[in-house]
Amino acid sequence: MKKKKLVIIGAGLSGLFSAVLLQERYDVTILEARDRTGGRIMGIEGHDMGPSWVWSHQKNILNLIETLGLVLFSQHTEGLATYDAPEGVQHFRPSQTHPSFRIQGGISQMVKALEKRLENPVHLHEKVCSLTQTNEVIMVQTADKTYEAEKVISTLPPRLALESIEYSPVLPEALHEKLQKIPTWMGYAAKCVIVYPDAFWREEGLSGFAISHLGPLSEIHDACTQDKAALFGFVHSHAKYENLEAEIIHQLTRLYGSKAAHPSNFYLVDWKKEPYTSTSLDAMPLREHPKYGFSATTFGGRLIFSGTESAYREGGYLDGAVTAALDLVKHF
Ligand SMILES: Cc1cc2nc3c(=O)[nH]c(=O)nc-3n(C[C@H](O)[C@H](O)[C@H](O)COP(=O)(O)OP(=O)(O)OC[C@H]3O[C@@H](n4cnc5c(N)ncnc54)[C@H](O)[C@@H]3O)c2cc1C
Repeated sequence: MKKKKLVIIGAGLSGLFSAVLLQERYDVTILEARDRTGGRIMGIEGHDMGPSWVWSHQKNILNLIETLGLVLFSQHTEGLATYDAPEGVQHFRPSQTHPSFRIQGGISQMVKALEKRLENPVHLHEKVCSLTQTNEVIMVQTADKTYEAEKVISTLPPRLALESIEYSPVLPEALHEKLQKIPTWMGYAAKCVIVYPDAFWREEGLSGFAISHLGPLSEIHDACTQDKAALFGFVHSHAKYENLEAEIIHQLTRLYGSKAAHPSNFYLVDWKKEPYTSTSLDAMPLREHPKYGFSATTFGGRLIFSGTESAYREGGYLDGAVTAALDLVKHF
C-alpha cells in the first residue's frame, strides 16, 4: 500500500528521531533550513558547540544512545574547582553533584547515526516559510518548492515556528499566545571552546570547572575529547563582544596560569544570532529552567507542534527532544 505523506520541519534531534520512528508507516520528507543537520546539536572538529551532557536519570536519551551503539564517558570533574572572585582567584572542592556524561566523538555522532537510519535523505537549505491547509492536505512552501502532505510535524522552537512561518488560515489566537510564551531553551547562550596542546589544568590538580561573576565567561568546564585538550565556557550575558576572544584568553590566564595564554584553537557560537534557533524574544538569559511541556495540534489535527520544548519531562534538554518524538508517535 502506498504510504501517506508526512513532512517534518527541522532536522534536529527531535525531527530526525521522529522520522526514524514514523518512516515505516509514512513517506517522510524532512525539510531543514540550515546547510547541516543537528539543529542545536553542533560539532566543530569533534567539539560540542551546543549540548555536551546527558544525565543518568534521562532514560529515553540513554536508551537511544545505546541503540545507536554510541559510547558514553564521564564528564571530567576530578580536582579543585575555581572561583573567579573580585578579591582574587579561589579554589574549592565542590560538593558531589549529579554526574553528567558525554558521547565519545561528540554529541553530533548521534545525529550522524540517526541520519544513516533514514530511508529518505534530509532536504537541506529548505526553509519552510508558509503552511496552507486545503480540504485534503497541507501545502508546505519553501523558497522555491511546494510539498503536499497528509500531516506536518513542526519541531521548531515554538516562538520560531510563529516568527518564521506564515499560516493559512491563521493560527487560533489562543494557540498563538500559548506558543509565544514558550522560551527557546539556550536561545540566549553563547558557547566557546578553547583548545590547548595539553590539559595543563589537570596536571595542576584543577578540574577545569570555574564560576565567575567577573567574566567574560560565567561558567567554564573541562571539554577534553579523546584526542584533544580543551575547556569550554558560556559567555556572560553582560560580556562585551569587542575583543571577546582576547578577553576570554586573559580571563583563562588569570584563572589557570600562563599556559592558558597559548590556545591552539578557539571556537565560538553565539546562539542568539542563529536565526534558525533563537528569536528576538530569546536574547536574555532565563532565571530558571522553564516549565516546559505542551500539546498542540491544529489544521484539523494535521499540523502538530513538537520538539524538545513540547516535552513534559526533561523539556529543553536532549532527553526532551527524544521524549517529544516518542510521545508524538503514540498519538499517530
Ligand atoms: C549552547 C547549548 C548548550 C546546550 N547544552 C545541553 C546539554 O548539555 N544537555 C542537554 O540535554 N541539552 C542541552 N542543550 C539543549 C539541546 O541542544 C536541545 O534540547 C536539543 O538539541 C533540541 O532538539 P530539537 O530537535 O527539539 O530542536 P532543534 O535542534 O532546535 O531543531 C529544530 C530544527 O529546525 C530547523 N529549522 C528552524 N527553522 C526552520 C524552518 N523555517 N524551516 C525548516 N527548518 C527549520 C533548525 O535549523 C533545526 O535543525 C543545549 C543547547 C545549546 C544551544
